[in-house]
Amino acid sequence: MRLILLGPPGAGKGTQAQRLCDIYGIIQLSTGDMLRAAVSAGTDIGLKAKGLMEAGELVPDTLVIQIVDERTNQPDAQKGFILDGFPRTVAQAEALDVMLLAKKLKLNAVIELKVDETKLIDRIIKRASDAKAAGHPVRKDDDADVFKTRLLAYHQQTAPLSAYYAGKGSLKTVDGMESVDDVTAALKEILG
Ligand code: AMP
Repeated sequence: MRLILLGPPGAGKGTQAQRLCDIYGIIQLSTGDMLRAAVSAGTDIGLKAKGLMEAGELVPDTLVIQIVDERTNQPDAQKGFILDGFPRTVAQAEALDVMLLAKKLKLNAVIELKVDETKLIDRIIKRASDAKAAGHPVRKDDDADVFKTRLLAYHQQTAPLSAYYAGKGSLKTVDGMESVDDVTAALKEILG
């Protein structure tokens, strides 16, 4: 199974992707997680991405396309994957189409988590305080000011993807404001 989860930052894409991976035995490909790992490891990609990520801006398309291309070739991705946080621009979506065609792969679904954006900042602040309480590292971009930039980037560059996939007839939507369990149930119903 190959799936894209769309939605603004804080919509619950990561939480739901982890649950669906456990259910379907596939892997989560979060470009945000992969970039954070690159930043921690101090790789070339990490050095290029660090400042942009901390400012809440998108990193260049070519970097993330390369990461996804390489990651989807690895053995553990062959059973399927959930793309979480990718694509984030129409150019990335077009590159993904080309990439999947070249690998002779098809998407099973593109699902958008619809959320009330006025509630997202509370979720982000909670995510940061939960991480701190659990002794986990707190993301530098889980901060009220940076969040505004991330939401703006979402509106300007990522929201047009809904129309892109709706135009192809492959977009489904789920109410992301329901409980975590109810959202998972709605996703499972779509995925069968
Ligand atoms: P996320 O963990 O998905 O919220 O992503 C955290 C940050 O990583 C974003 O604010 C961007 O700076 C960067 N990022 C993650 N995925 C992408 C992507 N597909 N395209 C560009 N930048 C990305």
